[in-house]
Amino acid sequence: MTYTVTLIPGDGIGPELAEATTTVLEATGIGFSWDRQDAGESTIEREGTPLPDRVIASIRANGVGLKGPITTPVGSGFRSVNVALRKELELYANVRPARTMAGVESRYENVDLIIVRENTEDLYAGVEHMVGPDAAESIKIITRAASQRIARYAFEYAVKNGRRKVTAVHKANIMKLSDGLFLESAQQVAAEYAGRVDFEDRIVDNMCMQLVQKPELYDVLVLPNLYGDIVSDLAAGLVGGLGVAPGANIGEKAAVFEPVHGSAPKYAGQNKANPTALILSGALMLRHLGEIDAADAVERAVRAVIAEGETTTYDLGGSAGTREFGEAVAARIRQGR
Ligand code: NAD
Repeated sequence: MTYTVTLIPGDGIGPELAEATTTVLEATGIGFSWDRQDAGESTIEREGTPLPDRVIASIRANGVGLKGPITTPVGSGFRSVNVALRKELELYANVRPARTMAGVESRYENVDLIIVRENTEDLYAGVEHMVGPDAAESIKIITRAASQRIARYAFEYAVKNGRRKVTAVHKANIMKLSDGLFLESAQQVAAEYAGRVDFEDRIVDNMCMQLVQKPELYDVLVLPNLYGDIVSDLAAGLVGGLGVAPGANIGEKAAVFEPVHGSAPKYAGQNKANPTALILSGALMLRHLGEIDAADAVERAVRAVIAEGETTTYDLGGSAGTREFGEAVAARIRQGR
């Protein structure tokens, strides 16, 4: 079986990270045919846009994309490629695991969270206007359909990945209608999974405090867009920051896997940046494709190489290059096969 995957290397450090990541993913023995699609700064000059239609067409055709970071040019009038991709492909679920790793400095040793963020509505729907010169209004849109869809995604993820509990996060005590509808939708979906996956809910402010104090009590969290945006960064901070944080954007017809961090232009072309977040995004892609053993192998190998501490990049206190780290992880995977 060979998977055809749209590969968007991206800007800045992206191409180096993509090279290290394809080396690692190919070491699992799974066949990949990389449909390479450039997007971002380099295509603005050549094609007049950072997101040519061919990129979206490729992801639509292949169903899966692996994407490096893309620079958002400030003040150029181009919209963010990342936001545009999510919209065009209706990637409704943003999934970010946050798990502690030996060798990566953090306050805790036992965090293992999956943050599932609704990606299409809430205050991010972009329905905003001025009300006269001195007041602005931004409309929070929550629908039953989108809330049930994201809750179902969270429960299905829990079932497929052996997780024990889903926590819905909201502020329904204050926003009784909008967040109330989100909570009610999650409760309705939870009832379908009773006996298989536990369910509870938390008010978002309390959730933040609990995550900082006792993150080990939580498992899968499902949140509307804005709370999801904030809480997923909080969770990344609990496990050592953005450099090792992978992410997935999932839709019904396509999914795009990408690191949380940006294009770090100051390190571009120096074989210096840490490819861990893109490699772990590749592991999420394997999981999405149903290649669970290969995903586990990639995650185990990344953890082992980082825990050993001999071949890590500068941000984790080492002096290895992007390529060397990727090769060390790939060698680990081959040893285990
Ligand atoms: P950034 O994530 O690129 O950098 C923040 C800090 O983290 C910098 O010190 C950087 O050197 C370091 N860093 C980031 N990734 C690293 C890695 N893999 N290894 C080692 N160190 C790493 O954030 P920024 O500087 O705010 O943004 C730079 C550009 O990236 C901007 O144009 C921004 O719009 C874009 N961006 C893109 C995405 C995306 O494509 N999904 C996400 C965030 C930012």
